[in-house]
Amino acid sequence: MKYVFGPIFSRRLGRSLGIDTIPLKTCNWNCIYCQLGRTVPLTHVRREYFPSVEILAEVEQVLAGSAPGAIDWVTFVGSGEPTLHSDLGGLIRGAKTLTGLPVAVITNGALLYRPDVRQELSAADAILPSLDAGSSDLYKQINRPWPEPTFAQYLEGLVAFREMYAGQLWLEVMLVKGMNDSLAALADIAAAAARIRPDQIHISLPIRPPAESGVEPADEEGLMRAQAILGELARVITPAHGELPIRADAELADFLLGVITRHPLREDEVTTLLRRWPADEIRAVFAKLERNGQARVVERYGIRFWGAASGKYSQRKESEHDS
Ligand code: SF4
Repeated sequence: MKYVFGPIFSRRLGRSLGIDTIPLKTCNWNCIYCQLGRTVPLTHVRREYFPSVEILAEVEQVLAGSAPGAIDWVTFVGSGEPTLHSDLGGLIRGAKTLTGLPVAVITNGALLYRPDVRQELSAADAILPSLDAGSSDLYKQINRPWPEPTFAQYLEGLVAFREMYAGQLWLEVMLVKGMNDSLAALADIAAAAARIRPDQIHISLPIRPPAESGVEPADEEGLMRAQAILGELARVITPAHGELPIRADAELADFLLGVITRHPLREDEVTTLLRRWPADEIRAVFAKLERNGQARVVERYGIRFWGAASGKYSQRKESEHDS
């Protein structure tokens, strides 16, 4: 499968079937914590990176091979920023019609300053935009965005979207130690969130391999501070640990490659996530993907993650290395 992956377990969306509309890695941000590695180069061009008709044909095919009730949400997410696909609105409507399931979009929200993007996203049932900073300086440090929109435009875009959008709006704050977990940074984020009026605020931690080696998740104190300052709408999102619901019609190698390309997996959790598969078989699949130049191990903080071979991660200075 080229565009559809999973389903994977998500705390927020249950069994979520992913649709990836763009090549790795296409993004208008270059977040220091990005689990897909660095964005080289950044792009802000909206276009039909892959034909919508091909993407929807794959959705139809996966659906035909999935047991009834096996998928809770269809989620546009993947190899970068999904709103850069110029037909995202058509894809959302197409996915809803084909599946009859609720559709979510995980986005950085940067393009919501454009009325056409707001209109397109309004067809989804839930939109999950990022809000890692409440000031222009921190926005530039954490998200390292394309110059347009400015922070002020980005924030106004989120506010304007909320005004016209009746679905669920769940802001995501990626809490990075020493960056946005201070009292002042969180107060700025809370002020921005108060203007946006989301339905929920999700506090996440960068626990997958971050693009930059110095990036660490906020500690317990930072998390408590975030919850206190962001208020009653905020909750901490912990990773989901359920068994990966591999489809009956899926090849193991294809399934794993589809997942790790968009969502790197800890090597030590893969056997738990796929407990019905013999560990030897899983190891053999990864070894083959590595030999074929499709997958690689990235080490962060002594933990080995499997990700796409083309991911661009900074090298660590200490004992870690990218293999
Ligand atoms: S985390 Fe999302 S928005 Fe940030 S660089 Fe990665 S894909 Fe882009």
